[in-house]
Amino acid sequence: MFDWIDTRAEARAKAGLARRVRPRPATSTDLDLAGNDYLGLARDKRVTGAAAAASLRWGAGSTGSRLVTGSTELHTELEYELANFCGAQSALVFSSGYAANLGALTALTGPGTAIVADQHIHASLIDGCRLSKADVVVAGHCDLPKVAHALSTRGKRRALVVTDSVFSVDGDLAPLAELAATCREHDAALVVDDAHGLGVVGEGGRGAVHAAGLAKSPDVVTTVTLSKALGAQGGAVLGPSRVIRHLVDTARTFIFDTGLAPSSAAAALAALKVLREEPERPARALEVAAELANRLRENGFRVSTPAAAVVSVLAPSPEAAFGWAEACRAQGVVVGCFRPPSVPDQISRLRLTARADLTEADVERAVRVITETGASAGAVSRPR
Ligand code: PMP
Repeated sequence: MFDWIDTRAEARAKAGLARRVRPRPATSTDLDLAGNDYLGLARDKRVTGAAAAASLRWGAGSTGSRLVTGSTELHTELEYELANFCGAQSALVFSSGYAANLGALTALTGPGTAIVADQHIHASLIDGCRLSKADVVVAGHCDLPKVAHALSTRGKRRALVVTDSVFSVDGDLAPLAELAATCREHDAALVVDDAHGLGVVGEGGRGAVHAAGLAKSPDVVTTVTLSKALGAQGGAVLGPSRVIRHLVDTARTFIFDTGLAPSSAAAALAALKVLREEPERPARALEVAAELANRLRENGFRVSTPAAAVVSVLAPSPEAAFGWAEACRAQGVVVGCFRPPSVPDQISRLRLTARADLTEADVERAVRVITETGASAGAVSRPR
């Protein structure tokens, strides 16, 4: 019955697209430019200590779904703190950012409604669009006229525009204020996935939605993950209180999923506290991203202009991208390698993530290794 799986696996292996799970060692001298721990908080003692204490007090798991036994006072406090930090009216915590996106999109749309989505949205939003059974129009990438056209031709259907704030592969920023204005003009709501914005973008890391002045907008809903800049695990939806109440009653990934582990809620709370106490961290992550991008561009690579911590460096082919990433790893620099079908435009890349806790020497080492290995991967687009 499963012979077809072997056939497909062989084809993927031949195309160099087989995926591999590689356990990360607990300690290593490697330089990690692949994870999403943008502020270096995943191992901060205040964060890990809070997680350990919560685990001892509340148990390792949350024991049930949020509406049964899976909510503790940590969950409620985290919802209050997240909304407060990001300037939103209310928040609801989910077990992951993925679940938050699925829950929000399926609860806010449905058959007979319209979704206008950016072409580069994250897989979890794509899946949310599919699950919702709404009529989905993909309106190019950051293409405001296309969004306006899709909204103006939707007839009488209720409409939701869906976008990432910082796009996860290229690290570019959506024109959020303009999108919100277009939505207002056409009587539509806006859902923004701020997974890569929270903790990095805007005043003190309050996120891209806050920075665009939309945190309290009655027609904007934001989703976030707790597993990137906050160094924890989990996700949340932020927005008007009536939207949050609606999600409690109807979002299936909220109702039928086991609640977030208390340790993760405590870790996220501790991370938010660090962010409030050390508001310089986000700026440092942005500075490191800009430095990586500028120096690699100077060395002849085709590099994105980072709006947050994500820096993408184009590779000439999927094979070259893979070989390049492996060569970096062999020299102790771990980078992300994105190839089709995980990239929205079929262009393979190295994906580097900046961190607030990288030193000048770390950046120096990263640039040297990526440059040396990139030359052999044929990735330099012009001679130095
Ligand atoms: N949205 C975006 C833009 C992401 O990059 C990710 C994580 N890769 C998610 C949502 C999913 O978040 P989580 O990992 O918490 O499920």
